[in-house]
Amino acid sequence: MSMSDTIIYMDHAATTPVHPEVQEVMKPYMDDQYGNPSAIYRLAASAAKAVSLARTRTASVLGARPEEIYFTSGGSESDNWALFSVCEARGFKDCHIITSRIEHHAVMNTCRRLERLGVRVTYLPVSETGLVDPAQVREAVCPETVLISVMYANNEIGTIEPIAEIGEAAREKQVLFHTDAVQAVGHIPIDLMNLHVDMMSASAHKLGGPKGVGMLYVRKGISVYPFIHGGAQERGRRAGTLNVPGIVGFGEAMRIAGESMQRSGEVTVKLRDRLTERLLNEIPGSRLNGAQDTRLPGNVNISFEGIEGETLLIMLDQAGICASGGSACSTGAIAPSHVLTAIGRSESEARGSVRFTLSDSNTPDEVDRVADTVKEITERLRNI
Ligand SMILES: *Cc1c(COP(=O)(O)O)cnc(C)c1O
Repeated sequence: MSMSDTIIYMDHAATTPVHPEVQEVMKPYMDDQYGNPSAIYRLAASAAKAVSLARTRTASVLGARPEEIYFTSGGSESDNWALFSVCEARGFKDCHIITSRIEHHAVMNTCRRLERLGVRVTYLPVSETGLVDPAQVREAVCPETVLISVMYANNEIGTIEPIAEIGEAAREKQVLFHTDAVQAVGHIPIDLMNLHVDMMSASAHKLGGPKGVGMLYVRKGISVYPFIHGGAQERGRRAGTLNVPGIVGFGEAMRIAGESMQRSGEVTVKLRDRLTERLLNEIPGSRLNGAQDTRLPGNVNISFEGIEGETLLIMLDQAGICASGGSACSTGAIAPSHVLTAIGRSESEARGSVRFTLSDSNTPDEVDRVADTVKEITERLRNI
């Protein structure tokens, strides 16, 4: 195997390249249109207008109103804000949150922090494919429950959660419902008009936008405490000079996603299924993690029996292939993924997992090269 000069990028759940059209529309706001949108002169007005257009576009793709969109620094801030603000309203006392065992660290570690502040948290188990059961959500509600937070789609295994049903349970119980939709927005259709979702997080860099910008949707009529304190930006709810180029880029990425999601989803699903089938059929001891059908278009997550995922990833990198693992190197030790253990995978299965996340920019030829390379590497590792 030789060092490849062309990279095959299959880690779109970690981040995406910034779409060329997105780069183009951002440029003027880093050049001559640099005004602070809060100022009074015309230079500011053009920036303010661009932010307003981005807000309208973002809202319209999601079935929301522009005034329900609050721009933030990304998915992590949006998740922190949603969870903190609801608990702060109760003084962090006598409050209870319901979430799942497979949330992104931005939700999970915020819950851990809130627990230290006195909040009680229920971490619901999930099915073998990673699905949260809406009936269990309903049963977990108690008089102190202030928030349900369940992700729209999982970043590791791609499982899409029953958000409509969980929303119905939340409404029936009159509990606020937040969803971390960072992996879903721009990838699968979302219509907030027809979902009982009260708050929703998204991030631009997961859908062809720039890093460091995201949003929190807050349904009209729901009051939230600010998380970042300071100036009166974002109707007094999120302080800080607006990241104009970032917001403009986010808006453009949303516009493009709104127009091309269906077509790109179909292309991506075909690539996903081809890669999944080849790996499962041609590599003994391989097993799919996550759901077969209720799954993000680009997600392939497979455990290879007896293989150290980290080693496989390093060898894939040497072959010019970017993918991710089901374990995170934390403080020197490799900890198996909380998502894979929550769906019942053993520690060694979790360690042996690799995640490929595709987009419509990948090709069938790349899929075949990746499948061939993984096959070759696993055979080599097993014969050592
Ligand atoms: C990437 C990601 C986040 C964090 O978003 P950032 O914009 O990188 O802070 C949160 N939740 C999920 C599900 C993600 O995939």
